[in-house]
Amino acid sequence: MPDPRAESEWFDRPDPTGETDTAERGLRFTCTQCGNCCSGPPGYVGFTPEEGRAIARTLGVTETEFLERFTRDTPEGRSIKDLRKAGSRSWDCVFLDRTPDGRALCTIYDARPAQCRTWPFWSSVLLSPRTWKGAGTTCPGMNTGTLHPPQTIRVTRDRVDI
Ligand code: SF4
Repeated sequence: MPDPRAESEWFDRPDPTGETDTAERGLRFTCTQCGNCCSGPPGYVGFTPEEGRAIARTLGVTETEFLERFTRDTPEGRSIKDLRKAGSRSWDCVFLDRTPDGRALCTIYDARPAQCRTWPFWSSVLLSPRTWKGAGTTCPGMNTGTLHPPQTIRVTRDRVDI
């Protein structure tokens, strides 16, 4: 059945933010590995039980050990921990590793939760050109790189409820 939202959302039309190519439908995004989305104030990174088991396997630990060592309780549910960087007000995801040349690498990349996989195509970010533009102020990967067609964006957005 055709998606009833097709052609009707702001990113179905060219130049939604005034900052992308005027002839394009969809949105551009390619991660630059700056790490901004994996650091900052303490946050919430949720995961399903299946995702938790996949991360545990990647780490070579039991599910119980993964939960005890790498996650914490939050009002939203269990979250991956973040750690305060020495001498900084910023917090990093416990699985974020920074290389000497300044890149930020996810050490569980292939097992990362859907919340991380689907950024920046979250409902809260895609609400309007304004919310998309606001998120782009901290994510240099937005409005550049790969062009994602509207229907692909919708499928990605539907994977999580954020
Ligand atoms: S903020 Fe954007 S560009 Fe930077 S690591 Fe996160 S997704 Fe990639």
